[in-house]
Amino acid sequence: MDNPILVTKSSIPAFEEYTEEIKDIWNTHWLSNMGIKHQKLEAELKRYLQADYLTLCTNGHLALETAIQAMQLTGEVITTPFTFASTTHAIVRCGLTPVFCDIKEDTYTIDENKIEELITERTSAILPVHVYGNVCNLEKIEQIALKYGLKVIYDAAHTVGVTYQGKGIGSFGDASVFSFHATKVFNTIEGGAICCKDITLHERFYSIKNFGMNTEGEVIGLGGNAKMNEFQAAMGLCNLRHLTENIEKRKQIVNRYRKHLQEISGITFVDEQDKVQHNYAYFPILVDQKQYGMNRDEVCDLLKEANIFARKYFYPLTSEFGCYRKLFPIQRTPIAERIAEGILTLPLYPDLEWSIVDQICEIIRIGQRHGEKND
Ligand SMILES: *Cc1c(COP(=O)(O)O)cnc(C)c1O
Repeated sequence: MDNPILVTKSSIPAFEEYTEEIKDIWNTHWLSNMGIKHQKLEAELKRYLQADYLTLCTNGHLALETAIQAMQLTGEVITTPFTFASTTHAIVRCGLTPVFCDIKEDTYTIDENKIEELITERTSAILPVHVYGNVCNLEKIEQIALKYGLKVIYDAAHTVGVTYQGKGIGSFGDASVFSFHATKVFNTIEGGAICCKDITLHERFYSIKNFGMNTEGEVIGLGGNAKMNEFQAAMGLCNLRHLTENIEKRKQIVNRYRKHLQEISGITFVDEQDKVQHNYAYFPILVDQKQYGMNRDEVCDLLKEANIFARKYFYPLTSEFGCYRKLFPIQRTPIAERIAEGILTLPLYPDLEWSIVDQICEIIRIGQRHGEKND
C-alpha cells in the first residue's frame, strides 16, 4: 500500500464550504467570545444532541474540568481506568481523588455492580465513560447516585450522535461532556461541550468557561478560559451538515469488519447494544492470544508491515500512569487490565475504502494461520 492508512482521518468539509462559512467573520471582525457562529452552532448542536442546555467549550478536556468545578465536588470520584488520559487527569487536576472501578467484558464500560462497594463517606460523584461510544448502564447508575446522593458526570467524548431509547445521550446524568476534537466523529478542529438539564448548573458552566463572568461581564466566581472561537464554531457548522451521512458510512464499514472478522477464533468485538443508536466512532477488536495464536502487539506489527497503523487504545490503563503513583491508592481492575492488554483499534473513518477494510481483515485472518502453526 502506498499511502499509510491511519486509525482515523479527520472529517473536513469542502474547502469552499468552509471559506463561505467564515466570510461573515471578515465582515464582523468578531473572532471569539460567543459570536454569531458560536451562537448558531450552540443552537444547532443543542437540537441535534437533544440537550436541554448546552455550553460549547474550546476542547473536551476543559469542558470536563469545567463540569467538575461547577459541580463543586469534594473527595473521591468513582471512575474507570480504561479511557483516554483526559478523564483521570481532569479529576486529579480538580483536586479530587479518582477511585478506579472495573469495567464489563461485554461493553468495556463501568461495571455498575462494582460501584457500590467503592463508595465511602468521601465519595461525591461517579464519572463513567461511554467508551468507544458504548453506552453505560444509565438506569443502574442513576439508581446508585440517587441512593447515595452522588453526582453523575458522563464522559461522553465518544458519543456525539448516540441515542438511548431515542433520547440524546447528553440528557442523562447531571452533566455529559462531549469532545469535538479533530479525531472524533464530529469535530470543530478542537472543541467540546457540556450538556445538562439544570439551568443554574448551565449558567455556572458558562461563567467558569469565561473567567467566572456572568453574561453582563461581572465576575461572580472563580473561572478560567475555555471559550470556543468563531473559526472552530464555523468548522462545526460545516461538519454538522455531513454528520448523519458520515455516521451511516461508518456503519457500513463497521458491518463489513464484523462480517469478515466474526469467524476468526480469538478475535472478538463489541456487539450493537439494545435500545442504542450507535455512532460507530471506533472499531476496537480484542485479541485473545491463546485462541488466536498471536498477541495484540504482534497483530499491530503485522498490520504495520502493510503500512496500516492500528492503535492500542486504551493501553495502558490510566491507573498505571507513573504520575499518579505517589498521589493516591490505586485499585486493581483485573478485567480492565486484561482488555487493555488485548485491545486494538482498527482504522475507521467515513471514506475508508472497503477494499482496505477487506485487506485488513485478510491480514488478520492469515495472521491466525501463522498463530496456529506456531503452536
Ligand atoms: C478525546 C477525549 C477527551 C478529551 O477531549 P479533547 O477534546 O481532546 O480535549 C476526554 N475523554 C475521552 C474519553 C476522550 O476520548
